[in-house]
Amino acid sequence: MSSVYNFSAGPAVLPKAVLQQVQQELVDWHNSGMSVMEMSHRGKEFMGIAAEAEADLRSLMGIPSNYKVLFLQGGASSQFAMVPMNLLGGKAGADYLNTGEWSKKAIKEAKRFASVNVVASSEDKNFSYAPGQDAWKLDSNAAYVHYTPNETIGGVEIFWTPETGNVPLVADMSSNILSRPMDVSKYGLIYAGAQKNIGPAGLTIVIVREDLIGQTVAGTPTMFDYKTHAENESMYNTPPTFAMYVAGLVFKWIGAQGGLAAMEKINREKAGLLYDALDGTDFYNSPVAKENRSLMNVPFTLKDAALDEAFLKGAKERGLLQLKGHRSVGGMRASIYNAMPRAGVQALVDYMKEFEKKNG
Ligand SMILES: *Cc1c(COP(=O)(O)O)cnc(C)c1O
Repeated sequence: MSSVYNFSAGPAVLPKAVLQQVQQELVDWHNSGMSVMEMSHRGKEFMGIAAEAEADLRSLMGIPSNYKVLFLQGGASSQFAMVPMNLLGGKAGADYLNTGEWSKKAIKEAKRFASVNVVASSEDKNFSYAPGQDAWKLDSNAAYVHYTPNETIGGVEIFWTPETGNVPLVADMSSNILSRPMDVSKYGLIYAGAQKNIGPAGLTIVIVREDLIGQTVAGTPTMFDYKTHAENESMYNTPPTFAMYVAGLVFKWIGAQGGLAAMEKINREKAGLLYDALDGTDFYNSPVAKENRSLMNVPFTLKDAALDEAFLKGAKERGLLQLKGHRSVGGMRASIYNAMPRAGVQALVDYMKEFEKKNG
């Protein structure tokens, strides 16, 4: 097999060691005679896998005991609706920060259920930065405050935790969960689709403070009520068993790297390599404000967009894949999640320098 580096924004690269373990255990998991894919979700073996995955995630993130961890389906996009359905709690409105494409989608969906107060927006500068908290116009009567700490498409990350007083803070951490330590106790609810930094697509993780559960809007379907899943250990119906198993192996892998503080150190090194390369020349450009440069998703443009195709073609020849930027931003985007090795970023930087030399 040829070796490649996959810079896809999601589904994204997984640790090679995890994939190899999955391969070894695929047909016969721990002498059970069957694959995890074939196991009853209520059987002893799978219940053990699920419990261990949850315990490992709790320990990695330091999740306090008054929070539930839910293993759901439907993607982060379903949470755009489930959050207002579950957290409005009789209030009319919720606060949203607008920092890009994913914020916009969350806002659009919330408007079906609530009056949305946009506390601040960076649309004026094509979502190239995140407004500081001093610019937010919070409503003290809001049911919750929602923000997107890492905009996967724009590559805009917020490294500080907003202060929202008694109003619960809700975060879509789909693309930066587990990339660095976060103080879960500062949040009412955190959600993330798995396919960026956790595991295979099909699993969505929700971490929710217990007192926020159980006040859904009238008519909420059973499956969309956090209480249903919280009361049944995410086993009310069939959860995404195989994705949970792989996620569990990824949690163990992160633990073996030294946990989230170690991940942050490695992630800062990797992102630093790339941003230094972008800053060292005017052949390439990072469109994002320095203080908001994402550690996970690095969009960049070539000074001459006419060279984009040639850049991508040469990258592909070197096994540097999925670097084409999102259509709303253009140019390139390198997603460098936890599982992207430092050598992958180095290979990209080496190629960028070589390409500039030839075409600059
Ligand atoms: C990918 C992504 C989503 C959408 O996730 P799905 O699981 O595909 O619904 C939402 N928010 C952010 C920040 C993302 O990166």
